[in-house]
Amino acid sequence: MCLFCDIVEGKIPSTKVYENDEVLCFNDISPAAPVHVLVVPKKHFDNIRDIANGEDGARYLLAVSKAIDEVARIKGLEGGFRVVNNCGEDGGQTVNHVHFHVVGGLKLNEHIL
Ligand code: AMP
Ligand code: ZN
Repeated sequence: MCLFCDIVEGKIPSTKVYENDEVLCFNDISPAAPVHVLVVPKKHFDNIRDIANGEDGARYLLAVSKAIDEVARIKGLEGGFRVVNNCGEDGGQTVNHVHFHVVGGLKLNEHIL
């Protein structure tokens, strides 16, 4: 069982922001900022390393970048935003279906990166 596969398949509801053949983008259930959207490939990859080593990785990574651009346009993030991918236990990944956090709607001054 995978939470984000279930969301992609519509078995669990989400608030859709953008969708195309390869990705679903929806609002994070526990937003860390005024805009907090998750960009989720519709194909299950455990994490970003799995995209690198799995089949169709290039197709899905390109789709992710295009979806980030669409989310930025839809949400009016013209001033900028941050994209975060947590990978693995030490990286703080809690859902083991790769996803990219698009965070914005405020000035992100405090950061470690
Ligand atoms: P990560 O810690 O990088 O694996 O991020 C997982 C994210 O999924 C967290 O920000 C959660 O708030 C979010 N999340 C968990 N369950 C749901 C859900 N049902 N709908 C939307 N976002 C969720
Ligand atoms: Zn999955």
